[in-house]
Amino acid sequence: MASTDFPHGHQYFAGAYHRGSGETITRINPATGEPLLEIDTASPEQVDAAVNAAATAFGPWSKLTPAERSGHLLALADEVEARAEQLAALETAQTGKSIRMSTEFDVPGTIDNVRFFAGAARNLQGLAAGDYLGNSTSMIRREPIGVIGSIAPWNYPLQMAAWKILPAIAAGNTIVLKPSEMTPGTSLLFAEAAHAAGLPDGVINIVVGTGPVVGEALVRHELVRMTSFTGSTAVGRHIMALAAESGTRVHLELGGKAPFVVFADADLNAAAHGAVAACTINGGQDCTAATRAYVHRSRFDEFVARVAELMEAMVVGDPTDPGTDMGALISQAHLDKVDSMVQAAVRDGAQVIAGGRREARPGNFYRPTLITAAAQDSAIVQDEVFGPVLTVLPFDEVDQALELANDTPYGLAASAWTKDLDLALRASAEIQAGCVWINEHIPIISDMPHGGYKASGMGKDMSQYSFDEYTNIKHVLISHDTATHRDWQDTVFRAR
Ligand code: NAD
Repeated sequence: MASTDFPHGHQYFAGAYHRGSGETITRINPATGEPLLEIDTASPEQVDAAVNAAATAFGPWSKLTPAERSGHLLALADEVEARAEQLAALETAQTGKSIRMSTEFDVPGTIDNVRFFAGAARNLQGLAAGDYLGNSTSMIRREPIGVIGSIAPWNYPLQMAAWKILPAIAAGNTIVLKPSEMTPGTSLLFAEAAHAAGLPDGVINIVVGTGPVVGEALVRHELVRMTSFTGSTAVGRHIMALAAESGTRVHLELGGKAPFVVFADADLNAAAHGAVAACTINGGQDCTAATRAYVHRSRFDEFVARVAELMEAMVVGDPTDPGTDMGALISQAHLDKVDSMVQAAVRDGAQVIAGGRREARPGNFYRPTLITAAAQDSAIVQDEVFGPVLTVLPFDEVDQALELANDTPYGLAASAWTKDLDLALRASAEIQAGCVWINEHIPIISDMPHGGYKASGMGKDMSQYSFDEYTNIKHVLISHDTATHRDWQDTVFRAR
């Protein structure tokens, strides 16, 4: 990706690109350590201009019929599809993720998401009208909220932009999105696709910059009616505190520390393949990644050996090579953090069975890592590493396994591996997480909700359930009582 890819600047609002008048950030190529591009960031005045563009667009956009909004989204899907190759190449360049991930996961997932919300836009549901009081009809209107301010992370920049933008605009809102300052490219290209598809100016706006400057200006803006945030738990809580100052709505998709529970009767080889894929997907920089395996003691050695064997065979390297399994981590600082957490665990007595080291080449490459003998209360088991690191601990009893699975502050996703239906149903009920996979780990589906319990956040992305975040529910009561003085008014004053 060259800086010339966005020759008119890294801000997109009111239907046009603008050069940011804030500071310039140099983005380093994660795969080489060389400078990749110069990103111009927005000034607070430009955030204000973007929010005002969204506010101006809100009236006409919210008044379109569902069929008209759906038509716009179908056209957008075609434009995104036409840019599939360009989007995949840009996603890999800016994140360092393997080109197979970008091509086979991020881009098709995004296109599917656009088409899903094109359909969902015509299916905003509420209660059927009913007579709940006598002599009256009550009905529900589901109405858009207004301007949504969204803030997204760097791990799946294109998909996160889509997850934020689509339910918001399908429901009739307009949006100002701040992608991560490290990975703005594919969000800007997504906006370009929307422009080409003929979406009205101001419906989608992108402002690029750092969290404290551009992010906070967005959350604090008086015309922003809701903040939708995906990122770390610490920043999410800060955003909630900022939004509390104006009492505006927040939707928070935060960190995760997904358990992966392997019961005694599990298909061991399937579980091992599942664990390696779910731990190393996107370099482990995935909020739902499998991070803590709990394996029945009778299968522990077998599981550890098979996972180690599969991890050792993984090809880590040039993300643009289709033969590469795992590309680079997002930044040198993040690589250092992942490695220092692994080394600290080792100092505390944990054992590295596979990986636990950088690749000896320029760029931010880390080997898939398998760790045993870590303490349940240690940082490597409790805290988000956000790298390709799996800890494995044994258990003896089902109760103990479920207790360990729930024993972190997070609750985003989890999996249980068993052929026993009772055990599967018990695990799915007792594990405190927004998603529990049985004999699977990772698939996320446009039609199904995604969102956390506990410190993993509140509210849902994707699916019809996301409309609960992005709409206001209004009760409308129409009286057909012909009496001048209604019975209930007697409580307040007698008829005269
Ligand atoms: P982060 O919290 O550091 O940053 C996320 C976004 O917030 C970025 O755009 C950043 O610029 C912005 N930001 C930072 N400080 C801010 C401030 N003071 N005010 C306003 N905005 C601010 O997270 P990250 O490192 O970009 O992403 C990784 C995190 O995201 C992980 O914790 C991961 O689990 C989480 N995540 C969660 C989900 C989910 O669906 N629950 C999905 C993807 C990533």
